[in-house]
Amino acid sequence: AMLMNDGNGVYDNKADGNTPFKSAVLHRSLHVEPYKVVASKGNYLHLANGQKIFDATTGAAVACLGHGNERVKAAVARQMDEICYCHSMFFNTSAMEGLADELIAGTEGKLARAFLVSSGSEAMESAMKLARQYFLECSPPQPDRTRFIARKESYHGTTLGSLSMSGHVSRRKLFEPMLLDNISRVSACNPYHGMRKGESTEDFVARLAQELDNEFQRVGPGTVCAFVAEPTVGAALGCVPAVPGYFPAMKAVCDKYGALLILDEIMSGMGRTGTLHAWQQEGVVPDIQTIGKGLGGGFMPIAGMLIGHRVVDAFKKGTGAFSHGQTYQGHPLACAAALEVQKIIREEKLVDNVKEMGLLLEGFLKQKLADHPNVGDIRGRGLFWGIEFVRDKVAKKPFDPKDGIAMGIHDQGMKPGYDIYLYPGSGTVDGKVGDHILMAPAYNVTRAD
Ligand code: PLP
Repeated sequence: AMLMNDGNGVYDNKADGNTPFKSAVLHRSLHVEPYKVVASKGNYLHLANGQKIFDATTGAAVACLGHGNERVKAAVARQMDEICYCHSMFFNTSAMEGLADELIAGTEGKLARAFLVSSGSEAMESAMKLARQYFLECSPPQPDRTRFIARKESYHGTTLGSLSMSGHVSRRKLFEPMLLDNISRVSACNPYHGMRKGESTEDFVARLAQELDNEFQRVGPGTVCAFVAEPTVGAALGCVPAVPGYFPAMKAVCDKYGALLILDEIMSGMGRTGTLHAWQQEGVVPDIQTIGKGLGGGFMPIAGMLIGHRVVDAFKKGTGAFSHGQTYQGHPLACAAALEVQKIIREEKLVDNVKEMGLLLEGFLKQKLADHPNVGDIRGRGLFWGIEFVRDKVAKKPFDPKDGIAMGIHDQGMKPGYDIYLYPGSGTVDGKVGDHILMAPAYNVTRAD
């Protein structure tokens, strides 16, 4: 493609060289013009070319109420009349307090405080620093705790700290020399690839717990702040929930060594997997939980942490002050939008619909696709489903990432007549797992959709 700049914006030619488009935006690719959305309503995006696209993945599991919600619009307008911005290090607002109350009530008191930022990556950065500071607030302090154990198949964000936490090979690749070296990794719970022939679920879990235990021993148990995991792995694997018993076994290892459990529910939380919090199905309560995406439903950029009693109590007895402040922390408009989103989810019992429509989607996908020679695995929970594609079903051999299978399915879906947006993921784990697509429709999706 050719790039030109006439001082009035950058002109770019499409990769085919035939269709120039003018843009001053550093798009994902400067070779391909993205689809232009000109309107949106409910679960559909309207494109400039007249197409009406079913938003089957709500961005990346974000727009959980669909688009154009009148209640959220009114709540943001009311907030604008009250206060749009003040620095939350020095001022409090009813929007921030209201959202925190709603979120803590949703944990049934199992978590104690909420901390609100603007993106999932920032929430993960905050969680890393909070975990570190927690051990300094403890009596006596444990300053040697500077390490984390995360999982190989994981994605926790794009900033240098959160990317360091991530195992996502292709997203790390270019920046590898700049990433933190205090994070080591164990296998994720991925039964399709990880379970050995004839192995029971209990034995699989015991093996993974032993792997974690060995890693604590290897790095020195007194140096680890926390074990970090996504309850259902999102972008790095394509919607892989843990097997029963996995999280209690991992938590037991953390407890044995006094480390915290951090659950990254940025993608799988806030109702997405059929309970408000994914851990409510796992038999554990995290010490720190990160949330994002469905928290604000995409109406405003908002994410955060929910913090357990153990951590909050240590801060109460210690300095009382988390040493971390951001300009847009607890942004009133973002909090007001998220509070309204959460009230709608609760009042309209949308998590029940997630469960019901999730079963419908699961049945449909399995009935239509399970026998396809290139469909290796269909897995997920609630309204969070992934399909993994394989070249060879028996050997579970992936396609070459260069074949671009997942991206090809995405492209096909966007063609007139298909009119569906699906989220592609390719060759992200040690180059082995290969291609998947991800589906995460809105919580209020209907049978007709
Ligand atoms: N953690 C998980 C599990 C995610 O899926 C994502 C985003 O996809 C992030 C963290 C980072 O969130 P953000 O893109 O809002 O910074």
